[in-house]
Amino acid sequence: QSKPQARVDGSTGVCFADVAGIEEAVDELQELVRYLKNPELFDKMGIKPPHGVLLEGPPGCGKTLVAKAIAGEAGVPFYQMAGSEFVEVLVGVGSARIRDLFKRAKVNKPSVIFVDEIDALATRRQGIFSESTNYLYNAATQERETTLNQLLIELDGFDTGKGVIFLGATNRMDLLDPALLRPGRFDRKIRIRPPGAKGRLDILKVHARKVKMSPTVDLSSYAQNLPGWTGAKLAQLLQEAALVAVRRGHESILQSDVDDAVDRLTVGPKCVGIELG
Ligand code: ATP
Repeated sequence: QSKPQARVDGSTGVCFADVAGIEEAVDELQELVRYLKNPELFDKMGIKPPHGVLLEGPPGCGKTLVAKAIAGEAGVPFYQMAGSEFVEVLVGVGSARIRDLFKRAKVNKPSVIFVDEIDALATRRQGIFSESTNYLYNAATQERETTLNQLLIELDGFDTGKGVIFLGATNRMDLLDPALLRPGRFDRKIRIRPPGAKGRLDILKVHARKVKMSPTVDLSSYAQNLPGWTGAKLAQLLQEAALVAVRRGHESILQSDVDDAVDRLTVGPKCVGIELG
């Protein structure tokens, strides 16, 4: 049993222009694109290939998006799995999936492997178990450790798999097993921060290109007035505004449509009052 397999995108079609508000991270990640485009050059120059890169930050701020953009910019296949897909009680299944994932990515190198929620497969041991759960706990722990060991082996053996970049993403760095964070495994940790006002405006502009927006809409007022909104929520805002505009028969999205969408995403859809009695 070695299902499920990684989802593969021959080309993600995502590029850095689709990512906004996290310029520092993007700058650092450009080097991976250069490497993927020409791994032989790095080899010739005696530059050690990067092993793994950990993207860390809160949900919805663009970790998956930026990982896809790296593959998209380099024009290489993107192998994606979630950490939870490696977690099985049957011993050996998770590690077989890891082996399979790296094998497939190496066959099609240069390529990118992306494991979201990597904390699910690489959690440090908790040491909490009782008499009754002892057996199950041990089986699950043993399986998780075997899986994690396999991941470490694959990362350590990356010199032989030149041209493959491993990206992991987490919003719970504190849960990760320290073995994974040792030098030579995740060479780089890149923080993907929630956007500030300028970042929110840039994200809104990126997503405004994908819908029909009236030029009269003042996006900067939303960027200013929606602190704490992530890229995912801002993308959802403009999708919701487009739906409102269609419902109202507008030919493009107006400020009032975006206002309504903000209300809907903040407090939920308006209730129609029913008078009883
Ligand atoms: P999770 O931890 O929940 O997996 P994530 O950090 O991986 O979240 P993404 O899945 O990359 O977040 O973001 C979801 C969607 O939100 C993206 O596909 C994109 O449409 C939008 N988005 C998020 N961040 C950004 C950003 N920085 N720039 C542009 N769009 C963004």
